[in-house]
Amino acid sequence: CSARRLWCINATDRRTATAHVPARHRVQTPDGPIDLAVTAGDPRRAVSIRNRLAEVLATEIVPATTHRPRQSGWVALVGGGPGDEGLLTQRAYHLLSTADVVVADRLGPRSILDRLPQTVRVIDVGKTPGHHPVPQHEINQILVDEAAAGHGVVRLKGGDPYVLGRGGEERLACERAGVEVEVVPGVTSAVAVPAAAGIPITHRGLSRGFTVVTGHDQLGALPSGDDHTLVVLMGVTTLPTTTADLIMNGRDARCPVAVIERGCTPEQRVTVGTLSTIADRARDRGVESPAVVVVGAVVTLSPDWTIPAAHT
Ligand code: SAH
Repeated sequence: CSARRLWCINATDRRTATAHVPARHRVQTPDGPIDLAVTAGDPRRAVSIRNRLAEVLATEIVPATTHRPRQSGWVALVGGGPGDEGLLTQRAYHLLSTADVVVADRLGPRSILDRLPQTVRVIDVGKTPGHHPVPQHEINQILVDEAAAGHGVVRLKGGDPYVLGRGGEERLACERAGVEVEVVPGVTSAVAVPAAAGIPITHRGLSRGFTVVTGHDQLGALPSGDDHTLVVLMGVTTLPTTTADLIMNGRDARCPVAVIERGCTPEQRVTVGTLSTIADRARDRGVESPAVVVVGAVVTLSPDWTIPAAHT
């Protein structure tokens, strides 16, 4: 090749190659395809840079100003996870980058709302405990109306849309109105918030399963052993009755409990105790919603668990 003055690509030994082909990839974006072609001294480095760029382009929030007009509206019920933006899925990012309207909750990764293109309209329907600024049927109507007006609507929800999140109702409302609807699962606080406090909700030898309930549920029929983890959402104000109920229905009063406030955020705070002590502890520490209550032996795996403190 050298004698004939030809470029030579040698895939088995890059040092003897006189030419390299770029690592290429086509990324589909709402504004059309972007072609990547990366060359670097080391072809493997080129491949890894290409992969990284492709990932960034696929998940970056891109300005919506150049979006092509859509033929018809759509709704995506997107699970946003418990609050940390890093727990959004790639699909969530992609849909957020293509939306015209984002209908946002109080919980979930709200920091992303500041980074949406200015052309995206944010409708805040955030609920606070005991105060429901936008009733559910109105939220359903907003989704349907916006889609009917031809807009792409992301309904950004905390956690997973289908875990105590009324995602099913919103989906059915869209379907009944003939609106195209997609549901994107999210990282549920029921699992992720205990994990953020170092609590695996199942663990060999400690817990074989778990139940997710709200603080308003009757808990009598549930398994009562310490080896069955109970995860209570929306359970802060009802904590005294929940714990009393559990003891009355056969749970050991010494069963470990953790209450994790604002989990997966920089303000996360963990309060530990037992079924008999946790309600008082939570009150003394001014525990507030949103918080996840975890009941069961797995709580002892949290770095915040200290037996002497928990048993006082
Ligand atoms: N669909 C959501 C749950 C909605 S119910 C999900 O899958 O996570 C709202 C309850 O979720 C709150 O009252 C609280 O119990 C819990 N929650 C949600 N995000 C939380 C967070 N970051 N920290 C603690 N609890 C949270």
